[in-house]
Amino acid sequence: MQNKFNTTQDWLAFDRAHLWHPYTSMHEPLPCYPIVGAEGVYLKTAEGKKLIDGMSSWWCALHGYNQDILKNAAYEQIETMPHVMFGGIAHQPAAELAVRLIEILPKGFEHIFLADSGSIAIEVALKMALQYWQSAQMPQKNTLLTVRGGYHGDPFSCMSVSDPENGQHHLFPRAITKHLFAPRPKSRFDGPWDEEDLTPIQQSLERHHNDIAALIIEPVVQGAGGMWFYHPAYLRGLRRLCDDYNVLLIFDEIATGFGRTGEMFAMSHAEIIPDIVCVGKALTGGMMSLAATVTTPKVAMAISQGAVPILMHGPTFMGNPLACAIACASIDLLTGQQDGSLNSSPLYPKGWRYKVQQIERGLQSLHDIADHKGVSDVRILGAIGVIEMEVTVDVGKLQKTLVSKNVWVRPFGKLIYIMPPYIIEPEELQKLCGAIIETIRTHY
Ligand SMILES: *Cc1c(COP(=O)(O)O)cnc(C)c1O
Repeated sequence: MQNKFNTTQDWLAFDRAHLWHPYTSMHEPLPCYPIVGAEGVYLKTAEGKKLIDGMSSWWCALHGYNQDILKNAAYEQIETMPHVMFGGIAHQPAAELAVRLIEILPKGFEHIFLADSGSIAIEVALKMALQYWQSAQMPQKNTLLTVRGGYHGDPFSCMSVSDPENGQHHLFPRAITKHLFAPRPKSRFDGPWDEEDLTPIQQSLERHHNDIAALIIEPVVQGAGGMWFYHPAYLRGLRRLCDDYNVLLIFDEIATGFGRTGEMFAMSHAEIIPDIVCVGKALTGGMMSLAATVTTPKVAMAISQGAVPILMHGPTFMGNPLACAIACASIDLLTGQQDGSLNSSPLYPKGWRYKVQQIERGLQSLHDIADHKGVSDVRILGAIGVIEMEVTVDVGKLQKTLVSKNVWVRPFGKLIYIMPPYIIEPEELQKLCGAIIETIRTHY
């Protein structure tokens, strides 16, 4: 590639004038930080600074950056076949990935749709649910039920089940299908369980179950909708109610999967399984976009033996072999499966669980700021640390201070939160937490 820009300032100015970044304006957007490399837990800036990445590139880069094992998996697959269509063609990387997903998911999931991004995995899950009831000769069951404070992606189908206020539903009255919302569960993950949390869901099901196809929710951790950690007993209640009222249960594990909450999947905190689960984000260790919608034989076979016996979806890059090969390498790296047997992982000699628990212990230092002015709550679960402020934070101002302290954290709304790569060392984690605490003390 012949570069068209000579200096960082040149391409950065062009970026600012021509490229949209997530949720930004083209008119005087907040400045972006030029990043020129990434290695281990660090992002390298154009000025030569190294920032500790507290975001894992939005939950994805769970092993950090520039890992040889993932890069080698990519090189090998590029040499043989980076992409072929999945229609009428099968390839080993997809089968290798599917068998790994079935192995690491709780028992019961057997049928897999490989989507090209998390949102598409959600779209497919919703379609599965609607097609399931069509096949069952109950097409009127086509409404969805969910809780407030959720986030399932930005396309309209995903927005329609994400929080109506965060998602600004009022802007798109014709494009967003109206679904049913209940309040989010109030019982904290680490607090007492209050059975009352289930009452609004039960009432909604009692009234509308003839119209409801599925209940969709992020298990245990609501991510981009507010970083709320709720009690796993809620999920057991949902499973029971969905069975009682003949409604499918869909879990969105796109943010929580692959060990982030301390269990391989967040649903394991509740020891139940949904009918359909979506995974994504960390699936490829943060190297490429890939996601999966996984379901049980009950759902898959009902759809496949209905009046329209095909699942109506097939994106261009479905089952992309390059992404599948990297995902296999990332899962093997996480679980410590080398050469088909369970040796220890080169990154996690004591296992990923030990590493996540070590991070969870390190994150406890965030509690030091709990009583500070402006802070309303501190909560920690697995490798996720959240500081909730009383009012919306000034992202530009805070981020400038954080970067000056050599850490990368991107607050949103009232939340200053981190979910670092699992390879982070305890000293690096203390620097990261320390920088956040100092930043809050500076500004509040
Ligand atoms: C990020 C996210 C999505 C959307 O995934 P994309 O890959 O961004 O399309 C859906 N659900 C949850 C819980 C997420 O965190």
